[in-house]
Formats: sequence, C-alpha cells, structure tokens
Amino acid sequence: MSAFDDLLASNEAFAAEFAAGELPAPPAKHLAVLTCMDARILPLAVFGLEPGDAHIVRNAGGRVTDDALRSLLVSTHILDVRSIAVVHHTECSMARFSQEDLSVQIGSDGVDFRVIGDPEASLKDDVGQLRSSPWFPPDTDIRGYEYDVRTGRLRQIL
Ligand SMILES: [Zn+2]
Repeated sequence: MSAFDDLLASNEAFAAEFAAGELPAPPAKHLAVLTCMDARILPLAVFGLEPGDAHIVRNAGGRVTDDALRSLLVSTHILDVRSIAVVHHTECSMARFSQEDLSVQIGSDGVDFRVIGDPEASLKDDVGQLRSSPWFPPDTDIRGYEYDVRTGRLRQIL
C-alpha cells in the first residue's frame, strides 16, 4: 500500500466541508512560525491557530537556512508579518547525528545539514541570526521557543 493511496479520498472529504476559500493571503495574526518538519508537531494545534492565521515555515530542525530566511523576509515585507516564532523541540532527529555522520550516511559532500549539537545554543544561534539580520523591518518581534513532544507544552526560551 502506498502512502498516496488515501490522499485523494481524504481530500474529497476535506473539500466537501471546505469553507475557507475567501481568506486573504496576509496572516490574520501577523505571525510566522519557523519549526521542524517533525511529524509529531502540528503547528496550528500547538499554537491554537486557524487557517489564515500564520505562515508556517518548516525544515529539518526548524533551522534558519537561506530558504527559511527567504520565506520570512517575504512574510515580513510583503505579507504584513510582525512576529516570528522560532520553535525547536525535544528529541529532534537533527540532534541525533553529527554533520559528518549525515554526510557519510547520505553520501553528500558540501551540504550543511545544520545539525543541532546543543539544543539551547542552536536556538540561540537561529534567533540571533534573525535578530541581527539587517533586512527585517525594525519592529519585527522575534522569539525562540522549545516544544516538548512528550507533553505538548511550549516554553519560551528567548
Ligand atoms: Zn526536529
């Protein structure tokens, strides 16, 4: 059985009840969330958000990469986002491997996997990188959080 088998049938049910077709593109809460792609994290549920409320930018580890930065700059400059939450989490797979382990296992030289050595230092690094960027509007509020995959609790760290 393929992971794709149920997708269209599930979407039929979703589309039959769909009532959010008139939402505007700018997020209603002027919020963007940068977080990990980890399947245990459901950002809308974690933050009590509804469709149309926030931009959700995801990658392995929820790290600040060139592409995450690109998306957050579009959020703030084009789509009225004023607050950015960087959310890392406990038991992240990106904290289980070193850069070298991943390079060898994947066979990729030159890809920076942005692994997480010390979780708090990584979060500090990412939030610091965004706060010190000269490109965000000066009133952009950028904060760092840790999500606990065991309890569902979010803790503000920075
Ligand atoms: Zn993760």
